[in-house]
Amino acid sequence: MTTGEKLLASILDAPGASGGRRLFGLLNQELTVVLGEFSLPPYRIRQLESALYRQRVTGLEAVSAWPKDLREKVAAAGFEVGQPRIVETFRSVDGTERYLIAGDDGQTVETVWMPEGDGGDDDDLSEPGPSGYPGQRGWSRGTICVSSQIGCAVNCQFCLTARLGIIRNLSVGEIAGQVAAVLNRQQAEPGRDRINLVFMGMGEPFLNYDAFMGAVRLLAGAMGIPESRMTVSTSGIVPGILRFAEEPVRPRLAISLNASNDAVRETIMPITRKWNIAEVIDAVRKVPLRARERVTFEYVLLGGVNDRIGHADEVVRLVRRANFPAKVNLIAWNPGPDVPFTTPGEEDVARFQQRLRQQGIPAFVRRPRGRDIYAACGQLRKTVAPAAGPDLAAIRKI
Ligand code: SAH
Ligand code: SF4
Repeated sequence: MTTGEKLLASILDAPGASGGRRLFGLLNQELTVVLGEFSLPPYRIRQLESALYRQRVTGLEAVSAWPKDLREKVAAAGFEVGQPRIVETFRSVDGTERYLIAGDDGQTVETVWMPEGDGGDDDDLSEPGPSGYPGQRGWSRGTICVSSQIGCAVNCQFCLTARLGIIRNLSVGEIAGQVAAVLNRQQAEPGRDRINLVFMGMGEPFLNYDAFMGAVRLLAGAMGIPESRMTVSTSGIVPGILRFAEEPVRPRLAISLNASNDAVRETIMPITRKWNIAEVIDAVRKVPLRARERVTFEYVLLGGVNDRIGHADEVVRLVRRANFPAKVNLIAWNPGPDVPFTTPGEEDVARFQQRLRQQGIPAFVRRPRGRDIYAACGQLRKTVAPAAGPDLAAIRKI
């Protein structure tokens, strides 16, 4: 079998939500192949694509551009839409929602909805939406935090997801499906509402590169979310960054720096021993930036570990030496049970930010969102069971 045939065989074998043959996740050519037995003309495939990704239908009966008998024939042959379903929702006091979404094999995938974004800098190269709109729903724009893997292999010491280890990669359909399911729940429309995507959920996107980029192409094309409103965060997987640099359609890039020198970074992000800060920055330099685009350095502040004023000065030197348009997003560490770090005080965070700004480095503080429901950065760990820790018993499930 060629690689293409193998891919197709795996698509055909993938069970849908109820064991049917899943269409969600497939694009034009793939749809044409899997529906080959019906000899559909190209416009019928385009109608299906539009129903799957623009209207985001959840059943074949809702593909209204198709005649009824065609919908029935395709359903009778065992095909189904198979858009991933939200199976559990946790709602934070701040409006953030965390979802468990059914994966192809009964495992759940984690996704977070943040109305109004997270307060970090928002230079997604798009015009600001009209503030206050759309009234009733209480949000005028929103950010969806998308997972790329179940668990993560990278083992950052401060991250709860790391505790799971890597369970498996997500497929194109499972990655893009998180977005479809959340848009449906929020009744959001990418063409009308200002929706940002951040690939900052569970997992390391650049260690599941093909599925991640496949989902980006689907989301940017068929689903209509401009790639300039997407950001992918990586812990610094150099071969992934180099491939990313060649992509004609790509999200903005964020690098999880988290330390101002290799010695500190090695202790909190062991991946540094494979690719050090200088190697990561050299790779980032190869990414051709769009007009007004900046690379984000994310920096999780860990009390006493990397939040001292000397660390801020080192970050300044590092960003200057990088010599590409960049900004720093500071995140005060979000705690998790049995993770041996402390959250810095507000004054420490403010002091660190000021120090960067005084020296001309754009620096923003990300508001923690949904900490009470374990939805904040680094807290995604499929948390449902109170047994995981006493404070988890209180998480709001709706
Ligand atoms: N794996 C990718 C993307 C997901 S993590 C990466 O690491 O970049 C998204 C961001 O959350 C990263 O910048 C990571 O450093 C940060 N993070 C992880 N655990 C955290 C925690 N407990 N508190 C605050 N931020 C955390
Ligand atoms: Fe993986 Fe990112 Fe967590 Fe590191 S911070 S363990 S790369 S999810």
